[in-house]
Amino acid sequence: MTSVAPAVAPGSASAKQPRVRFAPSPTGFLHVGGARTALFNWLFAKKFGGQFLLRIEDTDRQRSTDESTRAIFEGLEWLGLTWDEEVVYQGANVARHYADAHRLLETGAAYRDFTPAAELDRLRAEAEARGEVFRFDRARVMLSEAEVASKLAANEPFAIRFKVPEGETAWDDLVHERIAFPNKDIEDFVILRSDGTPVYNMAVVSDDIAMRITLVMRGDDHISNTPKQILLYRALGADEPQFGHVPMIHGADGKKLSKRHGATAVGDYQHQGLLPQSMLNFLALLGWSPGDDTEVMTLAELVEKFHVRGLQKKAAVFDTKKLEWMNGQHLAQIPIAELAAIVAPMFERAGLATAADLSARAEWFHGVLELLRVRARLTDEIVAQAGPFFTDTVEYDPDAVSKLWRDANAAAGILQATHDRLASLDAWEPAAMEEALRTLAESLGISGGKIFQPLRVALFGLTVSPGIFDVLLYVGRDRSLARIAAAVQFLKNG
Ligand code: GLU
Repeated sequence: MTSVAPAVAPGSASAKQPRVRFAPSPTGFLHVGGARTALFNWLFAKKFGGQFLLRIEDTDRQRSTDESTRAIFEGLEWLGLTWDEEVVYQGANVARHYADAHRLLETGAAYRDFTPAAELDRLRAEAEARGEVFRFDRARVMLSEAEVASKLAANEPFAIRFKVPEGETAWDDLVHERIAFPNKDIEDFVILRSDGTPVYNMAVVSDDIAMRITLVMRGDDHISNTPKQILLYRALGADEPQFGHVPMIHGADGKKLSKRHGATAVGDYQHQGLLPQSMLNFLALLGWSPGDDTEVMTLAELVEKFHVRGLQKKAAVFDTKKLEWMNGQHLAQIPIAELAAIVAPMFERAGLATAADLSARAEWFHGVLELLRVRARLTDEIVAQAGPFFTDTVEYDPDAVSKLWRDANAAAGILQATHDRLASLDAWEPAAMEEALRTLAESLGISGGKIFQPLRVALFGLTVSPGIFDVLLYVGRDRSLARIAAAVQFLKNG
């Protein structure tokens, strides 16, 4: 990470440290859209020397699960989007949400609504039957003090509703500039249900105040919540934060990204062989642009280039092909030791080598990875193509055999000669091997390819592999010679 002094956050009069948060509801896996919101907040915090906080919005007991909470942690950790303070669990703050709602009741900013839920449902259904939009009517439910006192004495349940004042509610959105809602379009919304539980807007505002959040950056599907939240801040006498609403993510067909479009969970991409930096880079460009043509950026570069001016209003398109391309770019440029650390557990899982073995032979392993990474877009592909470097023997692909060993006798003869030339070399290094084999080809009056192709099948079992001299080098002298000898036997017995 760069160590330059942090920039001053836009909109802040001083170098006040921004505090931002990611506030997922743990009702499923970590969605790529959520990860993108987390990333923008994280980048903002890093860019401006502030704090990135994590709040798990688990007030919906029915739908929240520990498994989702774990998936959120794992996804964020895999991406490296670590949070700066202890995780806040919204469900632990219900007493404060309740107290804040009651404070609004005491100041007259809110009132009790004793209307039974069934009656509201009936009114709503009647309005719909008339083809009208149901409008909540404050005059119908606001009672005199005496009526309230008698209902309270009778222990009748009530919800608390916010009394939306006249006028308009507006803010300067970090992404959309000025957004204004006429208050007449905002009905008196419930802040505390009759069972004493807070609704989303109340819980979020109460928590954002307690966490001293200075910027709320989230998906623009929340824009309609923002005027309600601003009204709550004002009624609670709290400074309102800045708001920024980032665009939705769509699939290639222009519809909101869903499972129909393929994997939408961050964890799925992790297990498909994507590097975290590719995912981050790709997500950053969904709704943000650095303002020039740069596309491939490390996380440190993203922090350096991040600016809210680059946040876009229009929906972003999730293009899986681009994500794979991006991964290929990162695979090619990531420091090799870093790549080794990421793929070592995958090699272990595939049964090719233990992590201890790989670290004992780090130089060799790094060399193998150098050969394979240029041909791969996913880390899985690296592991899938690495087999012949690790196993003692190779399996011959029938296609390769029928194509490149068609004349078994001739192939056996060439391979035997190849074996003998290579065995006579003093040094097992590519330049000497190449020289020896080209001289052999000349003396046999054949092209180099006629030697290299059968050799490739003997060493790799396939028609394609990294450069043949690199293969010889990394398979190693003894194993290479043994494989060529085995191929000669195979062809003679065939
Ligand atoms: N829990 C809400 C969500 O996941 C948070 C919205 C917000 O950031 O205020 O959409």
